[in-house]
Amino acid sequence: MRTKYIFVIGGVLSGVGKGITTASIGRIFKNRGFNVSAVKIDPYINVDAGTMNPVEHGEVFVTEDGDETDQDIGNYERFLDENILSVNYMTTGRVYLSVIQKERSMGYKGHCVQVVPHVPMEVIERIKTAAKKAAAEIMVVEVGGTVGEYENILYLEAARMMKLDNPDDVAFVLVSYLPVPGHLGEMKTKPTQHAARALNNCGIQPDFIIARGKYELDKPRREKLAFFCWLPSRECVISVPDMPTTYEIPLLLEKNKFCQLLAKKLSIDLGDKYDTQWDKFIAKMKTAERKIKIAVVGKYFSTGDFTLADSYTSVIHAVKHACWKNGVVADMTWIDSEDYEKNPKKVKELAKYGALIVPGGFGTRGIEGIITAIRWARENNLPYLGLCYGMQLASVEFARNVLGYADAHTVECASESKHLIININLTQKENVKNNRYGGTMRLGAYNCVLKKGSAAQKLYGEEKISERHRHRYEFDNKFRAEMEAKGMEVVGINPESDLVEIIQFKNHPFFVGTQFHPEFKSRPLRAHPLFDGLIKAALGK
Ligand code: GLN
Repeated sequence: MRTKYIFVIGGVLSGVGKGITTASIGRIFKNRGFNVSAVKIDPYINVDAGTMNPVEHGEVFVTEDGDETDQDIGNYERFLDENILSVNYMTTGRVYLSVIQKERSMGYKGHCVQVVPHVPMEVIERIKTAAKKAAAEIMVVEVGGTVGEYENILYLEAARMMKLDNPDDVAFVLVSYLPVPGHLGEMKTKPTQHAARALNNCGIQPDFIIARGKYELDKPRREKLAFFCWLPSRECVISVPDMPTTYEIPLLLEKNKFCQLLAKKLSIDLGDKYDTQWDKFIAKMKTAERKIKIAVVGKYFSTGDFTLADSYTSVIHAVKHACWKNGVVADMTWIDSEDYEKNPKKVKELAKYGALIVPGGFGTRGIEGIITAIRWARENNLPYLGLCYGMQLASVEFARNVLGYADAHTVECASESKHLIININLTQKENVKNNRYGGTMRLGAYNCVLKKGSAAQKLYGEEKISERHRHRYEFDNKFRAEMEAKGMEVVGINPESDLVEIIQFKNHPFFVGTQFHPEFKSRPLRAHPLFDGLIKAALGK
């Protein structure tokens, strides 16, 4: 089968659900046995998401091959249950960088290199390379940003050019927002009509409109949209109102026969295979009622008056997956660690939670509050999972309060300390010294060998695993023997470098810290073993 390309483009406003739509379209084809992949185009100039503040941009999602991408790549992985690789991700910075490098090496054979067509051609080449690498039959391409803005215009031009070249293999889906202004109390279609018009101005006629909003779209408005946006029939307008969880969206698309509509448009023979795994997962998810209270102590939570959990999307999903697997619902509370710095006694409130998670993080702000929380969890048998910084700071806490090294720290926060439990190696020192920050952390999948019989090994059910990393600093093996003698166990090691990957504490119901980020590999259909272990321990408590 020739690869079919489905472009997902946003209208009216950002955050309307393009990523989830992209992932869900992929899922409905995957359910029918197709080989599916997805590409994310981010219109900003940054080469990757790694150097952006997570409060501004949301989580940095790390791929198996070590790319620092947008959180939508995480959505694709969770919905498709496939690894999405670096070739599936592009930014304007990346595209221009290739064009300029190609020009410098005479790749354009002396021609004048122009914004159009050379930039869109580079985009098309990247989309096709990603499709080839994944052997995709269906490639869903999400164009970041909103139609009508400057930033994504060259990507829309690339989409138009692709359609012109392969009219039977390209479809356009406009995901647009339908507001219900409070003073009117009725759903308005005009902004979406304008979005479709703006897309027409770029030479693109949407084939389908996903009508996003708080409520279901009614029949007259559906007809109005189809008519004014030149769609062949009202079936081509799919109503996707807000749902309790985004994982239900593929089912909603199914109900609207969206897969059949897309198949018709792109001349795809759907066959009669249908994998019911996803349907079963949703059914099980919906039976869960009992709530389990999980505290997450960290930073990056507040912007102005809002609490922004977006920086930890994968952690939230991993907790939910493990909860659903155990038939319960996650009730997560985000605690700003600075609260425990201002008022250390407040840490006792952790008693009301079933478990504590300290997610990844960077820098000094709020660190002492995190350490206070970790200490409380260790001393009071509260199930604990520390992710990256959460593992590093658990080691620091142990060195301070069990080994008695009052100045124990990570070099990231106190380079002059005599007991740098978490330290920096030579290569990373050079990177920092020369301001080489972009893409230079320890990134992507690394092997880890587990200690036989350890809690972690039992949960994984195997001895050799591979997990994704994103950090600059490491546990200093100089302190290992001393710490192990006092009850901290190193149960996961990278066999190539001897770096510590997992720590665990004796005499505690569940206290695990990982130098890697297990959350990136958790999938709704396959909850991550360590999150599963944490939830089981919380339920036991
Ligand atoms: N700041 C720490 C490091 O760079 C931890 C990073 C993280 O939690 N992702 O090593």
